[in-house]
Amino acid sequence: MKPKKRYGQNFLKHPQILSKIVNFASCQDKNVLEIGPGQGDLTVQLCKVAKKVVSVEIDESLDPFLFPIKENYPNFNLIYCDFLKLDLEPYQNYVVVGNIPYNISSPIIIKLVTSKIEDFTLLVQSEYADRICGQPGTKNNSSFTALISYYGKCKKMMNVKNINFYPVPSVDSTLIKFERSRVYTEKDEHFLLFLKTCFSQKRKFLISNINLIYNDKEKIINIFNNANITTTIRAESLSINDYINLYNLLYEHS
Ligand code: SAH
Repeated sequence: MKPKKRYGQNFLKHPQILSKIVNFASCQDKNVLEIGPGQGDLTVQLCKVAKKVVSVEIDESLDPFLFPIKENYPNFNLIYCDFLKLDLEPYQNYVVVGNIPYNISSPIIIKLVTSKIEDFTLLVQSEYADRICGQPGTKNNSSFTALISYYGKCKKMMNVKNINFYPVPSVDSTLIKFERSRVYTEKDEHFLLFLKTCFSQKRKFLISNINLIYNDKEKIINIFNNANITTTIRAESLSINDYINLYNLLYEHS
């Protein structure tokens, strides 16, 4: 069977690296939700230590690899569907793990961060890991980084060289772990829209972006002055706490 590029299939076969992923994800005796089991190498390692493993795979042609796992591991459950369409409600207390397809890393991470899932451990492209673990004030800071830092912390756990995958991708990978410190609720949506708008035109001043959603430049300038933020600042220079403050100042009396 030829790995499918459109599903981001780069299989990881290295047993030591796989067992490190399982350790970093703290799966011992937990319920685990795995994204994209592929040929099942990580899956088997997860089944050995976890209480229960639910693996979600889009490509049913992998069934000859995945179905037989059930025989040795009764705690293994397989769902064929697009993870992006999966209702996460039944998996609130699950630990999420996966070597995920690179082309849909962002929608997967946004889905997880804006859910009730507590933490997740994912293997992503190294440059991408740099971007999402970025600090405010650096060019890596984006609405995406801000979104992540609003709900918790994303840390790099280890690097995995490209030669460990089959087929060998052009770039290396990094294991990242997100740990939640704030519960997501639907009430957050307006604040998240505000954050997204703040970063919508990266080359413009932040006040111009805020004006797209707030539409009262004079008041925005007043609030910036009161908060001691220079009006020529750009979105990437502020921390998530600055954004929370700004949002409260803008919307608390309106
Ligand atoms: N975990 C395996 C495979 C990683 S490759 C390993 O480490 O070897 C990524 C896997 O995600 C592939 O099996 C691919 O078919 C699957 N996949 C791609 N898009 C998906 C989606 N939208 N939902 C669920 N699985 C997906």
